[in-house]
Amino acid sequence: MEGKLNVQTENIFPVIKKFLYSDHEIFLRELISNAVDATQKLKTLSARGEYKGELGDLTIDVKIDPKKKTLTVSDRGIGMTADEVEKYINQIAFSGVTDFMEKYKDSHEQLIGHFGLGFYSAFMVSDKVEIFTKSWKDEPAQHWSCEGNPEFSMEEDKKHTDRGTDIVLHIADDCKEFLEEGTVLQLLKKYCRFMPVAIRFGEETVWVDSETDCDKDGKPKRVEKKQPRIINDPDPAWKKSPSSLTDEDYKKFYHELFPMNFEEPLFQIHLNVDYPFNLTGILYFPKVRKTIDPNRNKIQLYCNQVFVTDQVEGVVPDYLMLLHGVLDSPDIPLNVSRSYLQSDGNVKKISQHISKKVADKLEEMSKKRQQDNETSSHQDSEDSKSRSLEVSKSPLEEKWDDIKIFVQYGMLTDEKFCERAMKFYLLKGVDGTYYTLDSYREKIKALQTDKDKTVCYLYASDAEEEHAYIEKAKAKGYDVLLMDSPLESHFINLLEQKLEKSRFVRVDSDTVEKLIPHDDAIPEKLSKEEKEKLQPIIEGEVDKQKFTVQLESLEESDAPMQVTQSEFMRRYREMAQTSGGGMGFYGELPESYNLVVNINHPLISRVLNETDAEKQKELVHQLTDLALLANGLLKGEALSKFLQRSVEMI
Ligand code: ADP
Repeated sequence: MEGKLNVQTENIFPVIKKFLYSDHEIFLRELISNAVDATQKLKTLSARGEYKGELGDLTIDVKIDPKKKTLTVSDRGIGMTADEVEKYINQIAFSGVTDFMEKYKDSHEQLIGHFGLGFYSAFMVSDKVEIFTKSWKDEPAQHWSCEGNPEFSMEEDKKHTDRGTDIVLHIADDCKEFLEEGTVLQLLKKYCRFMPVAIRFGEETVWVDSETDCDKDGKPKRVEKKQPRIINDPDPAWKKSPSSLTDEDYKKFYHELFPMNFEEPLFQIHLNVDYPFNLTGILYFPKVRKTIDPNRNKIQLYCNQVFVTDQVEGVVPDYLMLLHGVLDSPDIPLNVSRSYLQSDGNVKKISQHISKKVADKLEEMSKKRQQDNETSSHQDSEDSKSRSLEVSKSPLEEKWDDIKIFVQYGMLTDEKFCERAMKFYLLKGVDGTYYTLDSYREKIKALQTDKDKTVCYLYASDAEEEHAYIEKAKAKGYDVLLMDSPLESHFINLLEQKLEKSRFVRVDSDTVEKLIPHDDAIPEKLSKEEKEKLQPIIEGEVDKQKFTVQLESLEESDAPMQVTQSEFMRRYREMAQTSGGGMGFYGELPESYNLVVNINHPLISRVLNETDAEKQKELVHQLTDLALLANGLLKGEALSKFLQRSVEMI
């Protein structure tokens, strides 16, 4: 029989070829998915008792023949009768293509990057395509052939007696790479790695015990052996039930997925939903410290074990793009553009679900941590002798420094997640102790509430550099947090909104008295006139662009001069630097500091009363340099001069 395909335009094939050029390798995925479908349908028929014959070896074969220039995909699935070829290949499949072309006729660019032409994608790489197929029903085999124009031929095929379908592609001259073993193997590994039916392609060499040769100890020799190569794992971990998998199994699968990632993942979340949408998958939390991995494409999207893409923007909430793993859902539309993907209802639900699961997992770890804390403090009070100094960390605490950045990013970008995370977020003290937000507030409330009833959270960004300030705060009985992630300044702003009557101040942003202002002011030793006289003396010796001189009434025992940096200015500068654009103004600001002068200190009185102008200058210099030195700000020439001057003064 000869026929004409149901298409309006004669030159549809050149169009398919041209506009799908960028994606034309997906023909292999399409053909093998069809073979997988046909095989699984047969298994279903057999399980239901409708097909009574032998199933036999159901492995799908992919073969290349460079001499004949053919690539063949063979399955032993349900096959097609003549009527079915007519219906599914000549009519339906083709009408799908014409619809598709019709839809995108005005916007060819949009077509690029789309896929899912099914069987007809074979024409992207072939001059001629043949189908040899025999149905599981007792009907004659068919041979269908088409040379890339709307005419096709179909006839009974007496030679073919085996159930199943062979699709033979006569590869076009400009697509010769698909006749190379290396290229085809790579494509199979990319698209078919976890397809649910075994796929055989070429041979591989393995080392086995020889059956005939022994070495001198009588042990069988190890010999090379060729065997057919199965390119896929038809039963990947994410399809298994979470209860059947150990932590080791999960780690093994991680390395199967990412053979180039040598670090162990921290933990994983196994997704397994069937209502209201279908989703399975495993997401791993990798170690991320301060640097954010620019390579974000570490989540692979599958549709019933068929690889779709590793660009999952929109499917996975933005803050979880740093996770590694697989997602598999038949509900994710495959044949559409990415912008459509993002507005799709199912995709949104999936994204929300993932976010919820991540929150569930962290909450569960947090609850476990709290239970452990309670039982250990209970035991401690019962038997204080056995109390060890080495407090063991809970799993959440152990991993916290590595996952903190995900959690902060999530809280900053996802309102719902933020609400839940307020319960399990952990603050970390400079001494390494972890607290939930609630327990920390309880701890500091008494001493760290200021005269306006605002609870003041003191923090350091770098425990080394801010050491002197941390010590001063501790001496006052205050607690200091370590807040050192790149997102911290944004995150602190968020916490100030979420926590009632709260303020965060970095330990070096003011003198320790003023960090948390209480009512009891210290009496001033200098009169108004004396202060007016002192101000210009000191201002005359410092760089006014950089330093603002502030006279303050502090304890006599406090340092004569201190350098501080306004919390507000510093935080906004940092935020401008990490958000890029929008806040540019703050980023442009020069670094500026306060030089706080303790008017109650005896040395300051000495400055004021010094009659020798030279000596007065020298004294001010020495005092400012000491303050700068405490803050790590005295460098280069200024530092050398300071050292020299110190020696001379002694
Ligand atoms: P889709 O797979 O999206 O339905 P295709 O154009 O790939 O679209 O295939 C059209 C139809 O042809 C399939 O739905 C199936 O009924 C039939 N078909 C394709 N390949 C095979 C095969 N290897 N074995 C049996 N039937 C097949």
